[in-house]
Amino acid sequence: MQTIERDVVIIGAGPSGLNAARRLTAAGKSVAVLEARDRVGGRTWSDVRDGGWFEIGGQWISPDQTALLDLVAELGKETYSRYRDGDSIYVAADGSTTRFASDLPVSAETNAEIDRIAAILDDYAAQVGASEPWAHPLAEELDKISFIEWLHKQSDDEEAVQNIAMWIAGGMLTKPSYAFSTLQAVLMSASAGSFSNLLDDHFILDKRVVGGMQSVSIAIADELGDDIVFLNNPVHTLEWTDNGPGAAASVTAVGAEVTVRAQHAIVAVPPNLYHRISYNPPLPRMQMVAHQHVSMGLVIKVHATYATPFWREKGLAGTVYDHAGLVQEVYDNTNHGDERGTLVGFISDVKAEAMWGLDEDERKRVILEGIARSLGDEALTPESFYLSDWGNEEWTRGAYATSYDLGGLHRWGALQNQPVGPIYFASSDIAGEGYQHVDGAVRIGTATAERVLGA
Ligand SMILES: Cc1cc2nc3c(=O)[nH]c(=O)nc-3n(C[C@H](O)[C@H](O)[C@H](O)COP(=O)(O)OP(=O)(O)OC[C@H]3O[C@@H](n4cnc5c(N)ncnc54)[C@H](O)[C@@H]3O)c2cc1C
Repeated sequence: MQTIERDVVIIGAGPSGLNAARRLTAAGKSVAVLEARDRVGGRTWSDVRDGGWFEIGGQWISPDQTALLDLVAELGKETYSRYRDGDSIYVAADGSTTRFASDLPVSAETNAEIDRIAAILDDYAAQVGASEPWAHPLAEELDKISFIEWLHKQSDDEEAVQNIAMWIAGGMLTKPSYAFSTLQAVLMSASAGSFSNLLDDHFILDKRVVGGMQSVSIAIADELGDDIVFLNNPVHTLEWTDNGPGAAASVTAVGAEVTVRAQHAIVAVPPNLYHRISYNPPLPRMQMVAHQHVSMGLVIKVHATYATPFWREKGLAGTVYDHAGLVQEVYDNTNHGDERGTLVGFISDVKAEAMWGLDEDERKRVILEGIARSLGDEALTPESFYLSDWGNEEWTRGAYATSYDLGGLHRWGALQNQPVGPIYFASSDIAGEGYQHVDGAVRIGTATAERVLGA
């Protein structure tokens, strides 16, 4: 066991923790980052599986995610656009498939309802904002009603309701639409600029990083060096003192092999894992209560690589929307410069749970059949196939990110960014702008470092 002294100890070497470390070291502070895993990047992870190179975690960047775009450019990395030429496929609730170019191939009335509800959500997102949704006068009202119940109050057009629900429920929070509030849906929309932005795959799924999103974290860790980033060091204990405003405080983080004594700590882990650390003295009562009302969603990211991007030859973009089916969204995810074609798909919440109940061969069969229904039988025989299994990752426990249970956001949201003595919290999951996204992690990492510098 090694004991070291630093100005700031950071727990977690995901994009939030590493960006905090980068900002603090640039300001001349001494820092140690203790990371539980044997790698950096957290929920961003690019690796070879079954012979294919896959983005196992976060990958896409939208044009408004400027903190991340600037960072990528600063690190000398390049981005590339997602392939999206050609028609998309819409699968209706009865399983019928239709090709379409721009508007969803639903009735004019349903399209008008989708536009009308989207406009209401855009208006709420603009009013409520992403930074303090709990402080808005409508917060309590919107937080007490589940998203699906609210949608049913807006419209009796079931197809419009289910399409809107999918974009936030399966598409973003990865929880059933009855399990989170309308305020949480409004926060999700506001954090991306608007609900309409979430609907627009050309916007929200715009670019990827050449070399993978994890390479951003790897580049920062390389810049920081081995004397700052300590892998294989899960922190189980955080001892702290708080001597009141203006007085020096201290914190000791005990990792598996390294103990760090510092003036400040930044806990840069997802909020569902706060309780894995034993705080001495314990955190204040309301933090201990609030932390129990935050949980990870669950989504399976499906990766399938083929000898060629066969869908392109049929004039298809590879994009599929199937809100009632197993694989609710599919996109062309071909790697930069690769001649082979890769598809990525998503299976969310209760459907993801059902998949893990099947044996491996059966799971692969039903998933590929789900994709083949829209894109053709060629989809049945990939050269490489892999399912991202974040629910099985001890240091994440789900995907993509955390959200409050019904009513939790307006009750406890205001606490989430408050430091406790010398302990600060940073995660994409408590970022306002960029919530649940790597851009949010970059923003909150940098902002939390600024707060520590100003403390
Ligand atoms: C399948 C998937 C797809 C996604 N797609 C996108 C996307 O396309 N675009 C996008 O912008 N975002 C996407 N995201 C979300 C994005 O990856 C996250 O928002 C981002 O990684 C969060 O960064 P973070 O540093 O806040 O947390 P994390 O990345 O979770 O990093 C936290 C780190 O803390 C470590 N840790 C946890 N507990 C401890 C402990 N006790 N001691 C020490 N270390 C600890 C973990 O090992 C981890 O390395 C996706 C996520 C997933 C899982």
